[in-house]
Amino acid sequence: MRNHKIGLQGILFDAKSSFMQGSALAPPQIRKAYNSHSANYYSESGMELTPDIWSDMGDFKIKDYFEIEAITDNNLTKEHAMITLGGDHSITYPILKAVYNSYGRVNILHIDAHSDLYDEFEGDKFSHACPLARIMEEKLANRLVQVGIRTLSTHQKEQAEKFDVEIIAMKDFNSESIPKFDAPIYISLDIDALDPAYAPGVSHHEPGGLSTRQVLQIIQNIAVPIIGADIVEYNPTRDINGVTAMVCAKFLKEIAARIIANST
Ligand code: MN
Ligand code: MN
Repeated sequence: MRNHKIGLQGILFDAKSSFMQGSALAPPQIRKAYNSHSANYYSESGMELTPDIWSDMGDFKIKDYFEIEAITDNNLTKEHAMITLGGDHSITYPILKAVYNSYGRVNILHIDAHSDLYDEFEGDKFSHACPLARIMEEKLANRLVQVGIRTLSTHQKEQAEKFDVEIIAMKDFNSESIPKFDAPIYISLDIDALDPAYAPGVSHHEPGGLSTRQVLQIIQNIAVPIIGADIVEYNPTRDINGVTAMVCAKFLKEIAARIIANST
């Protein structure tokens, strides 16, 4: 195996979650599942991703939402990709600001039940229902592709048109429907994209979602460099026997394997 490191940070923050709290507890639980003796460190492609692949910056308890950009800026280095464990989905906007500071505009592959394009939600422009609206409005991304969406309101549909968002709605999903990227991407993975049957540990149970296997196929089919990723909205207080933590840990491992395989 090539000697690659991948950055890792945990953002302990769920103050912008509109319906329930709990996702701030996720990062240590995902780490624990990753290192659980019930599994090994091999990806499905046969790459061994032992803990020494991580340049692990640790978990950060956030008091003020606006600290997240500076913390990420500090932890981010262009020498390697970085994965963030959330936290509610609001963290993706300050993270993308930090990514923009290092990389300029990126392409985003956003996997979620929700498009998170509200201009504001319950009076808050930084709610976890809004991060992709902020990102597109500030032109932090060249292209936004959303997969798994099954809750589009009229307002969010208008927002998607305004920002030229490419939406692969869940009702139209098949493994060929994901557009091909021709430039490096950032992956934002909201665990509620999955059907609650596969991942009950989320704040918003939205039936009719992706299977664990379908998300793995999406990750494994990525053919361009991945500059970073986040795994957000895992809520341990809603989990059953830690099954969702294991799903998050599996995605962490498979994204890491894809980052390494696609880097030159
Ligand atoms: Mn989301
Ligand atoms: Mn969601």
